[in-house]
Amino acid sequence: TVMIRLSGVGKRFDDDTVAVQDLDLEVLAGEMVVLVGPSGCGKSTTLKMINRLVEPTTGTIEIDGQDVTTADPVKLRRGIGYVIQQIGLFPHQRIVTNVMTVPLLYGESKAHARARAVELLELVGLDPERYADRFPHQLSGGQRQRVGVARALAADPPVLLMDEPFGAVDPIVRVRLQEEFLRLQRELGKTVVMVTHDIDEAVKMGDRVAVFAEGGRLAQYGTPAELLGEP
Ligand code: ADP
Ligand code: ADP
Repeated sequence: TVMIRLSGVGKRFDDDTVAVQDLDLEVLAGEMVVLVGPSGCGKSTTLKMINRLVEPTTGTIEIDGQDVTTADPVKLRRGIGYVIQQIGLFPHQRIVTNVMTVPLLYGESKAHARARAVELLELVGLDPERYADRFPHQLSGGQRQRVGVARALAADPPVLLMDEPFGAVDPIVRVRLQEEFLRLQRELGKTVVMVTHDIDEAVKMGDRVAVFAEGGRLAQYGTPAELLGEP
């Protein structure tokens, strides 16, 4: 089944910058789709349109059959986890509290939210005994990215949108995070759309890869094997 469908989507900003043009894209439930291409070709804007942080100028976007422009924004966001490179953890809150924020916002009890946060820290490979009560500055960059993923998973959204989630960490940590995230994504069956400018990362992680070109056009969309021309 199709989880996310973009039909004829375009975005022209107020200053007449055309960020995305005539974009058709389908993402199946449980699929990991990677948007790849050079800087400035509209990848982040596409992610933000799915999230309704940016309104498309043309076309329609559906998530689970529902048009995002008419969906209740609170409900919509609840179904979407968003991970960006600069994840912006609350610096004066402990790691566990950072992960608890969203469930608390949705009215979960403190005890329940905390238990869930501890579980999520474990899931993303951060030993809660060691890290739950630390503050963000006491963690490495890679560990903070893990917290960002845990926080995005806290509301148990079916869809995860990730913008260069592994961009800010060193290459060795990146490879570990990529592999661990793939395992997690498959285990949890999440539908993921991830942005990167790293073609190796795209080919390694994507079930399908959408190659963006200058001017915000989709140049190619297919499995890594199809894109690499393998039989
Ligand atoms: P990518 O993620 O592929 O690097 P973006 O989606 O961030 O590309 O940007 C696509 C184009 O839209 C770029 O030319 C960028 O400068 C422009 N752009 C992005 N956001 C805005 C904005 N808020 N206002 C005007 N132009 C923007
Ligand atoms: P919780 O039980 O919700 O994790 P805590 O008892 O850890 O809450 O602390 C309450 C709030 O105060 C949290 O937001 C926590 O991050 C913050 N806090 C606790 N101790 C400190 C400290 N030494 N410096 C800065 N913030 C703190």
